Amino acid sequence: MRDYYEILQVSREASPEEIKRAYRKMALQCHPDRNPGNKEAEEIFREAAEAYEVLSNPDKRRIYDRFGREGLERSGYHGVTRPEDIFRAFGGIFDELWDFPFGRRRRTEEEERGEDLVVSLNLTLEEAAQGKDVVLEVPRTRICPTCSGSGAKPGTGWITCPVCSGRGSISRGNSLFRLTVTCSACGGQGQYLESPCADCRGEGEVPVAVPLSVKIPPGVGSGSQLFVAGEGQPSRRGGPPGNLYVRMVVESHPLFEREGDDLLCTIPIGMTQAALGARITVPTLWGDDHLAIPPGTQHGAIFKLPGRGMPILNGIGHGNQIVRIRVVIPRKLSALQKRLLNEFERVSGKGKRPSRGFFQRLSDRFCRRRKM
Ligand SMILES: [Zn+2]
Ligand SMILES: [Zn+2]
Repeated sequence: MRDYYEILQVSREASPEEIKRAYRKMALQCHPDRNPGNKEAEEIFREAAEAYEVLSNPDKRRIYDRFGREGLERSGYHGVTRPEDIFRAFGGIFDELWDFPFGRRRRTEEEERGEDLVVSLNLTLEEAAQGKDVVLEVPRTRICPTCSGSGAKPGTGWITCPVCSGRGSISRGNSLFRLTVTCSACGGQGQYLESPCADCRGEGEVPVAVPLSVKIPPGVGSGSQLFVAGEGQPSRRGGPPGNLYVRMVVESHPLFEREGDDLLCTIPIGMTQAALGARITVPTLWGDDHLAIPPGTQHGAIFKLPGRGMPILNGIGHGNQIVRIRVVIPRKLSALQKRLLNEFERVSGKGKRPSRGFFQRLSDRFCRRRKM
């Protein structure tokens, strides 16, 4: 294990600024993006990251100065071993350091997390009302088994781009004026596939439908979203998986119209039922119910069946069912019906029909409005 000061090539009295400068220089030279596949550069980069992590922290530096690496280990520090740790260890300092001429790389938690997925789920109104256990097919991707995720046809590999020597960018110009542009030969990747894998077309991953059991709670509506943590796309960089959102689409129903937690329906009744009153059967999502229609019910009258609507999502109880009455006038009458209705008309007398006064008021109002 080399001495941290030696790794960064600074004296034991170096100031924090000197240490930072030395590390920046070192990191620029050995960054893995600049030295793809170079194990030695990678190791120097890792060592430098560890040395900087210790020497830039006054507490750790004090322990190291007095007791060496052994002292650090006894205090619970185990160094930087995995490349992810190098990127994670520094946080803000890292962002500041990483202003590379060949592109900035920032690894945030958000970037490492797998993608979120949205799946639509169609439900009938009955299913939305009762809730449902469904098995969804989640369209995830997985590592291509043919190429093990490399994207390369088996037996072939990645070629370092000869145009940019793997840098991904090309510098043009002289010592006074330099312009860095993305390498067009490799699209800035620094390398390209010798021959892409036929099964994944070089993507390294293939689509796969993963079955997933989901419990839909009663009361969901169109546009409701169910959040399933961690069931999205897996991370490509060892981070946590994305989340899954199940978006509900509730189909329209031939009988019921939904308004919040209430269900609206229109029930036709005969004109004699409306006039005489009746006990009618009303369909609900929860089975047939009965409704007493009082005598003299008008067309368009509204009745409420309490608690016969949709269940309240994540709550207690139900909305109501609202019944709108449609009075049906018969289109055809038998001779007997016609006679009876004529009889009805005769015995009803003038008082039951709209009076002359009513028409007079209507006509007055109409004329007033026209004069205005
Ligand atoms: Zn493949
Ligand atoms: Zn290139």
